Amino acid sequence: MSVQAPVHSRTTHHWQRELATAVRSGMELRRRLRLPHSDSDSSATPAAESDFPVLVTESYLQRMRPGDPQDPLLLQVLPQHSETQQQPGFRADPVGDLQAELTPGVLQKYHGRALLVTTGACAIHCRYCFRRSFPYADLPVSAEQWQQALRAIQEDTTISEIILSGGDPLLLTDGRLRNLVTQLEQIPHLDRLRIHTRLPIVLPSRITTELLDLLQQSRLQSIMVIHANHAAELAGDCRDAIQRLLRSGIPVLNQTVLLRHINDDADTLEQLSLSLINLGVMPYYLHQLDRVHGAAHFEVPEQQGRQLIEELTARLPGYAVPRYVQEIPGETSKTRISP
Ligand code: SF4
Repeated sequence: MSVQAPVHSRTTHHWQRELATAVRSGMELRRRLRLPHSDSDSSATPAAESDFPVLVTESYLQRMRPGDPQDPLLLQVLPQHSETQQQPGFRADPVGDLQAELTPGVLQKYHGRALLVTTGACAIHCRYCFRRSFPYADLPVSAEQWQQALRAIQEDTTISEIILSGGDPLLLTDGRLRNLVTQLEQIPHLDRLRIHTRLPIVLPSRITTELLDLLQQSRLQSIMVIHANHAAELAGDCRDAIQRLLRSGIPVLNQTVLLRHINDDADTLEQLSLSLINLGVMPYYLHQLDRVHGAAHFEVPEQQGRQLIEELTARLPGYAVPRYVQEIPGETSKTRISP
């Protein structure tokens, strides 16, 4: 079987139709939210957009406050003039993805785990994305290239966990995902399938019964790591999707990126942790921003991050305080910034 083998289906799912009608320009985003159009935006954001296009689903848009240019969800996706300015220390591959490549599509950074970059597609474009410049065009395309990626995993018997990443791996159709999972199940030394995805947050309709069945039926233990940065993201159909995942017995963890003007205060992070815990999701990581070019305006100083963790520790039960970490290229694990 091939991961890339065409899967013919007459059915277009609701999530695929929603993705097809997503907002794809800053101008449209502003119009939908009834935001003023400033001169600086009109002159500068087209350059940022051509480098990394706007993409926002209707579901996510519905959770933004109309008329509020400081909405914390909007700030994650609206292009800014500053994205086009070079900043010292900010680069295309801040986490050393390319030096960790075993073979195209397979990255290995840490013992026992390997990461499969399944697709370059996402349902949203987060302006701070550490893979915004990843060379997705070099990913395996043909069946033979995918077999080579799977062979690399097969040949390393120390790997017990595969992380499906991207882009967003849940943008693969059920057929392609099933095909991939079936092939991974045939590798005897694999025990776990971790899925890094933002779709339960930004395209909750993707969490279909078919998807849940697929994961439940696998011999591999599924673990889903979602990505929410603000409690306002955990509303409406997003909550339903997470509850469906949890009811299916799939453990759900969350990772957050510490982002300036979005979640860089203790009240906001506390509310996020409590909202996650109350849903049944463990707050797993708080990431220091990966210094990807175009994202400097999101950076929060480490010292401030440490103070925030201290405040959270004083306010919350220990299990609700995420680990504050940074990914440093070449290290054998994520680096803890504060205990
Ligand atoms: S969903 Fe993840 S991979 Fe996609 S743009 Fe956002 S941060 Fe990047």
